[in-house]
This record gives sequence, C-alpha cells and structure tokens, in this order.
Amino acid sequence: MGPADAPPYAEVALPLGIDKTLVYAIPRHLRDAAAPGKRVTVPLGPRIVSGYLVRLTETADRADLKALQDVVDPEPLLDGPLLELTQHVAAYYGAPWGEVIRATLPPGIDASTRRRVRLTTAGRHSVTQGAPTLSPQERELLHLVPLDAPVPAGRLTRRFGKTTTSLLHRLQDKGLVMVETFRMPPRVRTKQERSFHLLRSEQEVETAIAALTLRAPRQAQLLAHLLRVGGTLPAQEARTIAQSPSVLFGLTQKGFIAPVLTPVRRDPFRDLPVTPTEPFHLSPPQQEVLAEIDAATTASRFVSFLLFGVTGSGKTEIYLQAIEGTLKQGKQALVLVPEIALTPRAAERFRGRFGDRVALLHSALTPGERLDQWLRIREGDADIVVGARSAVFAPLPRLGIIVVDEEHDSAYKQEESPRYHARDVALFRGQRTSCPVVLGSATPSLESYHGTHSGAVRLLTLPDRIGEGVLPAVAVVDLRQEPKVPGRRVILSGILEARIRERLARRQQVLLLLNRRGYATSLLCRDCGHLVRCPHCSVALTLHRAVQLLRCHHCTHQRRPPDRCPACGGSNVRQLGMGTEQVERELRACFPEARIARMDRDTTAGPQGHHLILQRLERGDLDILVGTQMIAKGHDYPNVTLVGILSADIGLNLPDFRAGERTFALLTQMVGRSGRGPLRGAAVIQTYNPEHYCIQAALRQDYSAFAQEELARRRERNLPPFTRLVRLLISSPKEAAAAEAAEQLGTLLRHAPHPFQIDGPAPAPLARLRGRFRWHLFVKGPSDTPLRPKVTTALEAFSPPRGASIQVEMDVDPVDTL
Ligand code: ADP
Ligand code: ZN
Repeated sequence: MGPADAPPYAEVALPLGIDKTLVYAIPRHLRDAAAPGKRVTVPLGPRIVSGYLVRLTETADRADLKALQDVVDPEPLLDGPLLELTQHVAAYYGAPWGEVIRATLPPGIDASTRRRVRLTTAGRHSVTQGAPTLSPQERELLHLVPLDAPVPAGRLTRRFGKTTTSLLHRLQDKGLVMVETFRMPPRVRTKQERSFHLLRSEQEVETAIAALTLRAPRQAQLLAHLLRVGGTLPAQEARTIAQSPSVLFGLTQKGFIAPVLTPVRRDPFRDLPVTPTEPFHLSPPQQEVLAEIDAATTASRFVSFLLFGVTGSGKTEIYLQAIEGTLKQGKQALVLVPEIALTPRAAERFRGRFGDRVALLHSALTPGERLDQWLRIREGDADIVVGARSAVFAPLPRLGIIVVDEEHDSAYKQEESPRYHARDVALFRGQRTSCPVVLGSATPSLESYHGTHSGAVRLLTLPDRIGEGVLPAVAVVDLRQEPKVPGRRVILSGILEARIRERLARRQQVLLLLNRRGYATSLLCRDCGHLVRCPHCSVALTLHRAVQLLRCHHCTHQRRPPDRCPACGGSNVRQLGMGTEQVERELRACFPEARIARMDRDTTAGPQGHHLILQRLERGDLDILVGTQMIAKGHDYPNVTLVGILSADIGLNLPDFRAGERTFALLTQMVGRSGRGPLRGAAVIQTYNPEHYCIQAALRQDYSAFAQEELARRRERNLPPFTRLVRLLISSPKEAAAAEAAEQLGTLLRHAPHPFQIDGPAPAPLARLRGRFRWHLFVKGPSDTPLRPKVTTALEAFSPPRGASIQVEMDVDPVDTL
C-alpha cells in the first residue's frame, strides 16, 4: 500500500489522564510508517506529547485536524489482539486507554520531547534595532533569547509561568521567534555492543595477510585472528589485539573490516544455576485435574478453572505439566505470581523445567533488564513468561494457557490508575484468545469460589499434601486468659514460649508473624491524652527505635520522637502497641542463645533484601525469623516446624469488608509454612477473639466452613461477590469541600434517571492522606452487568465546587477500601 492509498487519519490514545482518543491527520511522508500499536508524537495544545496510534481511519469528522508529528517505532509494540485487550480493560475500569497501553510496556522507554525558542531574522532585528509594538513582557522575553542560539523553553517558563505559552504564540504570530521541538532519548534503551566484522572472503583475506605480514604485521595478525574466530570480534578484544586504534582504522579504511553495533540482552538469569527437573509421575487426583486442563488447551477453549489445593498439594507440578502440553502444541504460556521477590523459588522451578525458554518480568529487575526480557518475549525468544501483575499484558502472540498462582492475593490489584485487577484481566485475555485460565489457591478469593457455584468457574480440587506431608496441629491461645504482668505487654503466651524453647532445643526453626512494623505503633501523652499524629494523614506516627524516628506509614513524613508531650509539655509520654522491631528485641532478651532475624519493609531494602534473609533461613543459619506478612509467602523450609501468629486481630479489626477474608487467608498461608518437610509442624494463633469464625476456621484449616459463613454475611449485606461495586473516592485539601462534593455526588447518583443504589457518602476510614481529606461512596449494581459505564455517564452531570481542587477517583471492583 503506497502513501497515496494509506488511510490519512490516525486515532491516538494518550497516556495523560485524557479519557478520549484524539484524531490526527497523517502527513504524506508518514503514511507508510503509521500503523496501529506504534508510538507517535503529536501536538497537544502548545506541547508535543508521546502517544499510541490505536487505529487508522479513512475519514474524520473535522477538517482542521492537527498533524501527526512523528512515528517513533519501526515495528508496532502491541499487536491487534493486545490493543483490543487494552481497550477492553480501559473500558471496563474507566481508565484512559493510553494509560492502560503504557501499563503494558516496559517502563522508561518513552522518549520525552523538549522545546527551545530561537529568534528569527526579524526577531534579531527587533532586539538590536528596537521594535515597534511590543508589550513589556514580550520585549523582556525577546531579550532573554540569545541572538545566535536557542534557549530552552523551560527557562522561559520559569520566568513567565503560565503566560509563557500565550506570549510565545503572540511572538510567533508576529514572526519574531521560532519554537523548535526535539526529542530526548528515552531513559531506558537496548544496550548495544560494538564488534568488528570481516567483510571479505577467506581467500581474499589470506592473500592480504601474506601481503601485509611484513609491511603491517599487526593488521595481518588481526585479520588472522578474525579468520580463526569465524569473522566477528567484540570491539574490546579487537582493540587489545590491535594494540593501537590506527590498526583498526587502517583495516576499516581498506574495506576489510567494519564496526557493527549489535544489541545485547541483559539477562540476570542466564548465569544463575538452576537444577533441571523431570516431570513427576502424577498422583491420581493430579492426573484427573491435568486431564481437564489438557482437554481445554487441546481444544483451544476458554475455561476458567479454580485449582483449589492446600500448599504442598502439587498445584505447581500441575502448572508445569499443563504448560509442557501447551508448548508441545506450539503454543505459549503465561504464569502470574503475586510477587517474585518473595517467591524466587517458584520462578526457579519454571526455569528448572523449561530452561531458557522462560522469561521473567517483574519489578525487582533493573529497567534495562526488564526491557530486554520484554524484547525477548516480543521477538519470540521465550515461550513461557513468569511475572507479576503487569506481565498479564506480555506480548505473547500464541498464548495457549494462563496460570494465576495465589489468585486471591491483593498484589494483583493495581492501586493507582489504571486500577486493574490482573486476575480479572487474565480472565478477559483467556476469553478473547480462547485459552484456559487456571486460578490456583489454597484460600481462593470469594469471587472465584462463588463462581464455581454458578458454573462460571470450574472447580478442580487437590485435597491432600503430596507424600507423607500432614497438616500442622494448630492451637488457638486466648490472650484474655494470659496472666497479666503489670507494665508489660504479652508478646508470647506461655504456650508459644514453651513451644519455641522445644524447637530451639531440637534445632528446628520458628517463624513468627506480626503484621505491623516499627517498634511502637504510637506515642500517647498520659497527662493530656495527646496522640502524636502525622500532620498530613489521619494516623498516629509509628516509633522506629533503631533509627530514633517517628514515621508515617502512609506518607514520607518523619520526625524525632519528642521528649515531652508536644501539646501540654508533660513528660509522661507513653508508647502504645508493638511492632516487629519490638518483638525482635524482646525475643533476643528472652532467647539470648538463639539466632534471630527480622523481615519487614525496614530490613529488606535493596534488591537483595529478601533474598539474603531467606537464604539464612534456608541454610539453617537462623533459629527464629520474625516478620510481617512477607514471611507468609515463599517456599518450603523443611526445618520450620513451628509458626506463631502473635496477634491475629490486627487485620481482623480493619474497617474493610474483606478484612475477614484476608485474615483467614493470611493465617492459613502462615500455618501452611509449618511442617513442609518430613517433620510434623505446629502452629499457635494468639488472639483476643478466639470465637471469631475466621479464627475458628483457621484453627480447623477449613476453607469451606469459612467460605460458607463469609458468603452468607456478604449476601446479607449485599456485598461482592453478590453485587458489583464501584468506589468513588472524593478528596480535597479542604475538609468541608470534600464533604460537600461527596454529598452532592451522592445526591446526584441517588436521583439519576435510573437511580443507583449507594452506600455512603462517608469519610473514608483513612480520612486524610498526604494532606487530602477523603470521602467515599460505593455504587452497587447487579453482579452480572457492567456498572461502570452508567456511573461514568452519571458523573458527567457532576460539577464539583470550584477552587477546592476536588478529585474524584473511580475504582471498579475495589480491593482496598480504606
Ligand atoms: P503446591 O504448588 O500446591 O504448593 P507443589 O507442586 O509445590 O505444590 O508440590 C509440593 C511438593 O511435592 C513439591 O516439592 C513437588 O516437587 C512435589 N510433588 C508434586 N507432585 C508430585 C508427585 N506427583 N510426586 C511426587 N512429588 C510431587
Ligand atoms: Zn502521613
């Protein structure tokens, strides 16, 4: 297709929080290059911005369209089906299409554009000779531009602020300045390596060597070396052999060799040793499960499976064998895991079975490594992608199966725009590409579990641990019954302390969970009741004792702990509530002989953070590991035979309807870490709510009892999975404005032509965050029809109070409701 008959218009999605796509005219010289899935640069107001070409069109409904400025990519970054998937995701979540597309791409690859301003001849003239009709500001701007060089537009903006644009427009109209746009290289690029290639035939080279041996021995030497190694030499080596640049230059000049740039792939895994594994002979229940999945992959049929089985029941082995079958059919596989940093072994198992056909995508890679993994995938150099949330968009053209491991994990939900849920996107993608999606969990989300009742999801069960693995014996300790020592908090109940001593004596390992970091959760003045709070968020500041700081766990605020009460000046300031840092200290006092470590966000900074701690556990260099929920994930540590949950109530009491579900999952996962080897495990759960159904179900490790009770409660309160939710979060730096806007929005939705059912508005549990006051409301709708488009339509009629910088954020199928 030549430029003459290529479509003349391009629909472009911008990653800039703009809901609609924009149409641009394609100049003739770009018509061959323009194609959907490529990045383009376009003018937007006074700026040049980067966007994604999503469609070519023959017609446009306006004549005065602006023109596409440039096409960035030689090849599309996204193919047609992926583009459609992103469009669907954007529509479902009400997110700008361009933002969704950007979320699918490796970060940092976008070029930015800069502008600079230059004087025209007339402009120069007017500066030197004086100009007739210029405002003082116009004159000032002109004089800021050097006569013979351009000035970066940014420098003018710093001087003139928002008026810069209109000033420049006026000066351009008068023909006094030119504004040039140029592109800056992206932050992240493919790495290239220079090498020298032989250009002549072997015979010619041999003749040349003979001729050069006396005259230019080093040139002859280098040619001989090139012949020996097959004609290509990395530049570094060539320079060493040549000893002087003139040798390389001479041979290049004579046309014998040429420097060539070749991309090198940064692959952090290539050199890591893996243990190759052979498929196991499957147990009868595993065989049944695999047969069902195989049937769906063979038929290229979308089925969503829920693979429900306790940790150690052999789910991963099923994934591996189902993928093996898929690859044999010439198709590809996508495996999502919640956080690779915490589960490095899971990724290793895929590499152990499939070697270099595996690509890994996750945030612990450097941006360059991530780009290279992504390019490998796109170039068809990998058939299996293992990755975290955003890997759900990996560019695999022949997708044959999707696995979502630990599908209940809230890490799959992105909590910033675009707010998508990777598990649900995996289901969309499976549906659109006609391939099965296997959701695996020991504690399925209630959405997935409930789906098995309606038939939308096919339930596959692995009832037992593989081999002799027996589930741990669990005990619940009622903290209300513990003897009280005045002035001391109960950290370890009598039972837990005794069990820890037993394990230490037997040289076995202990994991202790307290899902709260820091030393003390707050400082309270006992004289006046003042609580030391974050000035920007509605939370108390947490004491971090090692660094002697009070820190906000929601923003970056920190300060020195006050000696006296900041309100009344009293000296009776008391620490309340304990975190992992305090537990660690108490444990050291209690078990001085034990080797103890702590794993939480404070101790795992840096890319190696988790790894180093887990390695000590694995090697047996640790007796007790205390940590936040981070320690619940991960792999088998066969020598861990005791797990203690110091306070099961922390998550349970959160004002969030999923608090019970999350607590049950966390407790179950934690208990499951005990006794993963031949030794029988035990677990102790400490709580002030021993009768609570979540605790009771965790005690008996009975998921269905928990699910039954929880589903009944959700049904009664009309909550997911029985209803669909859209959360609207209204925020403003002004408290009254946020409240007023929320009330207005609530009234508007209640009186819409088709009234919505609404919970709220009410102050969000986290009523203030980073200086903004937050209100929220929940729109409810039947679970079988999309609710979002109707909400968006209704929102169009909403005009928030002016001048209070009101923000309304929409969260479809919200996970975090604080
Ligand atoms: P899950 O993913 O449910 O935690 P895994 O697949 O990791 O379970 O299996 C638990 C352990 O049992 C692993 O060490 C695995 O290698 C082993 N395993 C899995 N299936 C079999 C089998 N059919 N025969 C023997 N060992 C198996
Ligand atoms: Zn804060």
